Amino acid sequence: MTELYGLTPGQLSELSTSLGWPKFTGAQLTQWLYRPPFAEIEDMNNISKARRELLASSFTVGRLAPKECRTSRDGTKKYLFESPQDGAVFEAVSIPDQQRHTLCVSSQSGCKRGCAFCMTARLGAGRNLSVGEILSQYQSIPEYEQISNIVFMGMGEPLDNLDNTLAALDILTKVCGLSTRRITVSTIGILAKLEEFLEASPVRLALSLHSPFAQERESFLPAEKLNPAREIVSMLRNRREDKRRRITIEYIPFAGLNDSPRHALELTRILKGLMIRVNLIPWNTIPGTSLQSSDPRRVEAFRAELERGGVPTTIRVSRGQDIEAACGMLAGETNPA
Ligand code: SAH
Repeated sequence: MTELYGLTPGQLSELSTSLGWPKFTGAQLTQWLYRPPFAEIEDMNNISKARRELLASSFTVGRLAPKECRTSRDGTKKYLFESPQDGAVFEAVSIPDQQRHTLCVSSQSGCKRGCAFCMTARLGAGRNLSVGEILSQYQSIPEYEQISNIVFMGMGEPLDNLDNTLAALDILTKVCGLSTRRITVSTIGILAKLEEFLEASPVRLALSLHSPFAQERESFLPAEKLNPAREIVSMLRNRREDKRRRITIEYIPFAGLNDSPRHALELTRILKGLMIRVNLIPWNTIPGTSLQSSDPRRVEAFRAELERGGVPTTIRVSRGQDIEAACGMLAGETNPA
């Protein structure tokens, strides 16, 4: 059985013509798959019964439901998904707030990038999620219709799964009707892929920088070696990308490592003239590293230094820590209880 969920509108229209049906039937399938009321094949009542029966003989919808949900004291929910094909696990985190309800989705099960501060890195490479697996994290959760914003900040590096990420973004913005201003893709910045991403998608960008100094960044973010943050920032500058979309720099202050005035000064220098904001992310401690998070007063001082240099800076409020749902804590573990 082939799954329909995850096929792009283009692929659904090709499927339709390959069966000798009008393209229009492909458009109807697109609506049934990605817009409520979602339907199983037999209930797609504007498609003839004969066609539905033929479809159902070799296809299923195949939207994946979460296997488990944990709820944090602060209302954050973490959903665990497990592929019935190979058992790969991935997670989505639903974060209600006063003005918005953000969903954080995964692009991979595991990650090959080996960032020293991130729990997902401990899983190793894992695999890319399919388009259907990415979209299921959104459309299979009970509060789906409340979601106002989507961030690709869960497990994995979206640019290492660029094709599926782009296809999912296309469906989210063009079929599901989410605004490109309400979607953010977070990346460590893989140079070649980043340019392709910027050409293909107008959604917002978050760049995980964490240090303005190459050697230091490389010491905890090995991808720096082939993808220097400086080159990424100058590429964004040359393309005037900051004028086209909101760009945020993500920066985890670590005690005595990257949180000094010297760091704030250098960061200010490389961002000079760009309309880019910095988001300081308090580190969620994970075991087995010597890294330590900066204390809140130090983070506040770092923020003030960046602001003095003219860089708008916010401090992220961490959510869902008690259920390992906060940034960098996603490792596909099932409920210990
Ligand atoms: N691979 C992408 C997206 C996933 S991580 C990226 O790195 O951008 C999303 C954000 O969480 C990144 O900014 C990442 O640096 C941050 N992060 C990772 N581990 C963390 C941790 N333990 N505590 C706080 N933030 C973390």
